[in-house]
Amino acid sequence: MMKLDDMLQGVRTVAVAGHVNPDGDCIGSVMGIWLYLRDNYPQIHAETYLETYRDVFSYIEGLEQAKSTCDSKHVPDLMILTDISSRSRIGVAGKLAEMAPRTLCFDHHVTNRDSYTWVDNRPDASSACEVVYEHLDPEKISCACAAALYTGIIHDTGMFQYSCTSPRTMRVAAELMEKGIPFSSIADASFFQKSYGQNQVTGKVLLESRLLFDGRMILGLVGRTDMQIFGLESKDMDGIVSVLRNTAGTEAAVFLYELEEGVWKVSMRSREWLDVSRIAQQFGGGGHMRAAGCNIAGKEADVAETVIRAFEGFFSERA
Ligand code: 5GP
Ligand code: MN
Repeated sequence: MMKLDDMLQGVRTVAVAGHVNPDGDCIGSVMGIWLYLRDNYPQIHAETYLETYRDVFSYIEGLEQAKSTCDSKHVPDLMILTDISSRSRIGVAGKLAEMAPRTLCFDHHVTNRDSYTWVDNRPDASSACEVVYEHLDPEKISCACAAALYTGIIHDTGMFQYSCTSPRTMRVAAELMEKGIPFSSIADASFFQKSYGQNQVTGKVLLESRLLFDGRMILGLVGRTDMQIFGLESKDMDGIVSVLRNTAGTEAAVFLYELEEGVWKVSMRSREWLDVSRIAQQFGGGGHMRAAGCNIAGKEADVAETVIRAFEGFFSERA
């Protein structure tokens, strides 16, 4: 198997980037690669590009130097993309990815069919961090790099709970643990703890949620006005759909939040049989069978109706 070390011959500058609205797996995989380069390739100048993220990830070394804007004058020898799911979701570093002479992509999205100089996209892998791990020399992974990669694995598996978790995922996590990472505080700080405002909004979303299709689907939403009242931004919405998903009897959980005036993010989860990536793709989005998303423009009630209609066919087929 091609290793990252083999792909660095003659490379002097690298840029590493993930997807818009970065989550734990995106941040962990981008920073895991950056830390691997920092610790083993001091002659390579590497930069990371990440949009705004929650400060709960501040234990990841070097995260403070990630750039949230992109100066496309500094085209790197090598562009590394992780967890992006499609070229259109690269975000701030999108221009750089077009201009770079070589582009590597580490991903785990069944919906990623774009082309790159080299790509390893494994829809069966739990996370982009697990895919990245397979291409690193374990001997050269520092504790700091391991902490970043472990973060992505726990976020995308919901603490080893979702069906994307495999025996291999557990082995990779164990090998990362052996590097001496503070795994307990990583889980607490980045995954379990929520701000008071986040918990309040989660409560409001649950209280106002709707059960549909004989209780097989739950739908919750929050608009911009409420987000502003509770002092929350898009990056603070992570995790709410998982709380909805914990409702017994539901096959699907859907959470809508208003990204900007009149544009809604649709976050979808399923439990056993519904392929939510197919629904997301109908609206130009993507993701995995059990977790997918898309953006839909319109008024709150219209967007909710559109989403419900998209699920209707699947539920009536299995009545
Ligand atoms: P989340 O609901 O946590 O935002 O996203 C769930 C999964 O779907 C993630 O793997 C994410 O990358 C993917 N996803 C979410 N929104 C979009 C989108 O608008 N387009 C694509 N291609 N993938 C998305
Ligand atoms: Mn991921």
